[in-house]
Amino acid sequence: MLLVLVDHDRGTLDPLSTRALTAARTIDSDVQAVVIGASGASVAAEVGKFGAKVLHVVNNPELTDYAPMASGRALIDLVDSLKPAAVFAAGSPRGNEQLAHLAAFKDLPMAAECTSVTLGNPHKVVRARWAGNLLEDANVHSDLLIASFMALAFEPEEVGGSAEVKEFTANLKPEDTIVKVIDRVGDSNTGGVTLADAKIIVSGGRGVGGPEGFGVIEELASLLGGAVGCSRVVTASGWRPHSEQVGQTGTKVAPELYLACGISGAMQHIAGMKNSKNIVAINTDPEATIFRYADYGIIGDLHQVLPKLIDAVKSAKGA
Ligand code: FAD
Repeated sequence: MLLVLVDHDRGTLDPLSTRALTAARTIDSDVQAVVIGASGASVAAEVGKFGAKVLHVVNNPELTDYAPMASGRALIDLVDSLKPAAVFAAGSPRGNEQLAHLAAFKDLPMAAECTSVTLGNPHKVVRARWAGNLLEDANVHSDLLIASFMALAFEPEEVGGSAEVKEFTANLKPEDTIVKVIDRVGDSNTGGVTLADAKIIVSGGRGVGGPEGFGVIEELASLLGGAVGCSRVVTASGWRPHSEQVGQTGTKVAPELYLACGISGAMQHIAGMKNSKNIVAINTDPEATIFRYADYGIIGDLHQVLPKLIDAVKSAKGA
């Protein structure tokens, strides 16, 4: 049996978890899932559709929101009683962090961002290194495999089952919840479309020039029903919230259309958006690296190009 840790945000399933469930099913059809926090029970129907036969819900009252060390501790009890061959999660920052705590508690290795897993002795994995620029063949020497799947490497596939919900209370220690989410500030203004789900992303980099420059980016994203993204320079400068950062240390995305405006195309940014179906880059520098990855390139000042694009979209919509 394989155990998949599925993630949720206040009761809404992380779409990357459906990919992790699908990936686990390609290894063994006997898949169970675990979710942390009582509000996670609401994901049972969806988790069942993606092939988990059981959803274990850790229902400790103190687990009101994300608390990575507590997740790791809770998984110990479940792993010891169920004895799965492997514990998997999506290779998101949160998935990796929670599995890393489990691995540390169990004094076992953890393989992050796998694109392929073959169980055995040793287990064989292929995992992405250096922001996805290198694929490494590795052997994992442990009875229990603890591994995450590279975030967008597997397409989610429904099988249409249902998951039996089993609740349990984990043996947590007071220090397990020292690090936990207690509040959220600076939610992005994208009309409810999140970066991970967006079919269209309009992303801005240092070339936007400052926080006020994002007005045109927001307007185009909103007209196209998409989300706003950005580079790390932008979040590090405090122009936009980290929830909008695309890249190695931000969100990995694969929309139908990714518009990179004033973004140079650093390796760490490319790592987060290179799986986009169509990439359009707007940049004043014809030598910018981003053009190597772009399907369409516009050499020009984004503050001149974007208003024209906005007008064109408006007139196409008859507005
Ligand atoms: P710049 O590299 O400064 O590029 C700005 C671009 O805008 C230039 O190409 C310029 O020609 C163009 N430009 C300027 N004015 C205009 C204009 N008016 N119109 C059009 N174009 C214009 N970065 C990420 O994005 N995501 C990550 O997750 C990430 N993780 C990292 C992790 C590590 C460990 C490290 C070391 C770095 C990471 N970085 C990440 C940072 C990354 O290396 C780059 O520094 C960053 O991506 C550069 O951002 P940028 O393209 O906005 O800025």
